[in-house]
Amino acid sequence: MKQDTKIIKAGRHPEKCHGAVNPPVYRFSTIIFPTVKKLLSVTNENKYDETLYGRLGTPTTAALEEAIAELEGGSHCVATPSGVAAITISLLAFLRAGDHLLMTNAAYHAVRDFCEAILPGFGIETTFYNPLLGKDIASLIRTNTRVIFCESPGSNTFEVQDIPAIVEVAHSNNCVVMLDNSWATPLFFKPLQMGVDISIQAGTKYIVGHSDAMLGTITVSNRENFLRVKDCAAKFGFCLGSEEAYLGLRGLRTLSVRLRQHMENGITLANWLKNCPEVARVMHPALPPDPGYEIWKRDFSGACGLFGIVLRPCTMARLEAMLDGMNHFSLGYSWGGYESLILPMRTGIVANRLQDEPMEATLRIHAGLEDVEDLISDFEQGFERLRMV
Ligand SMILES: *Cc1c(COP(=O)(O)O)cnc(C)c1O
Repeated sequence: MKQDTKIIKAGRHPEKCHGAVNPPVYRFSTIIFPTVKKLLSVTNENKYDETLYGRLGTPTTAALEEAIAELEGGSHCVATPSGVAAITISLLAFLRAGDHLLMTNAAYHAVRDFCEAILPGFGIETTFYNPLLGKDIASLIRTNTRVIFCESPGSNTFEVQDIPAIVEVAHSNNCVVMLDNSWATPLFFKPLQMGVDISIQAGTKYIVGHSDAMLGTITVSNRENFLRVKDCAAKFGFCLGSEEAYLGLRGLRTLSVRLRQHMENGITLANWLKNCPEVARVMHPALPPDPGYEIWKRDFSGACGLFGIVLRPCTMARLEAMLDGMNHFSLGYSWGGYESLILPMRTGIVANRLQDEPMEATLRIHAGLEDVEDLISDFEQGFERLRMV
């Protein structure tokens, strides 16, 4: 079955819900058992296979997990209440006191915060590594390094990582590789096929796709890793609500058509921005000569609508004049919805502190599904305001 067909079929079982096209929203905490025998038939082996209690999952969350696992090419998926929860659960499932974590320096800022503020209290040490290291990451691996966490392209600075090289080094040193794959989604990059052990989505972004729900997913390739991750989520009490799972499933059905348009609008806009005198640099892995282009072309089958630009030095007043007056690009801390967004960086939001440019000059752009000519003229007028102040 082709990917675009899978995305329509995955996780749907109309015969189990009166023929309804979509898995319904099952709302419950309590499940009632008909007999003592049935109630007591739950064992450690089958506890996640049957519906027992709301915290452990509902048929709606199970449908989402089944669909994502199939698209990622994994054996199981665990749905979580946010993208950050998917990352923290994954880390805590594999790390113990005394362990060492290698975390990409271009990680999403809340992940960096978690490593700096929470993990030390658990006795877990983090080293932030240069995302461009590739196989040379070997020099940072210690005897107690247990997890190598990747995010490709990196948040806000868009470095593309050499995942196959990192996986090879990691596995020969008994390290687990986790990847935040929110930018490419399971459609444009296949972490598990590249040997990554844990593939993570901030489903809040493109899977939900309409800026109206929080969602995360963790996909694994075998039952052993599933039990580790699911046990960790269950023991901490993390569970996704059925309403959110429903919105995730609903968004998923159109992910492929939406992404194609986000990609096209993003590339058209980025190419136009490249030629603007106000723009010093465009950060878009799908546009040569971006430093990530070669690896992107080798490993990815598409690009989403998220990229960055660095403006030539300008005052804050000019930047404010430009951004406050934008018509189609709203100011907001997210991306992946159908609408265009723009975000000026500031220290603390740009996680990758390897970058030289002043933070405010860096803009993260999410190309939405509007007509790209309107998006371009929004920037034309924005640059006019920037020049006038
Ligand atoms: C937004 C984001 C997250 C966090 O997802 P939430 O659902 O907001 O918790 C994680 N990784 C990346 C790359 C993100 O952009």
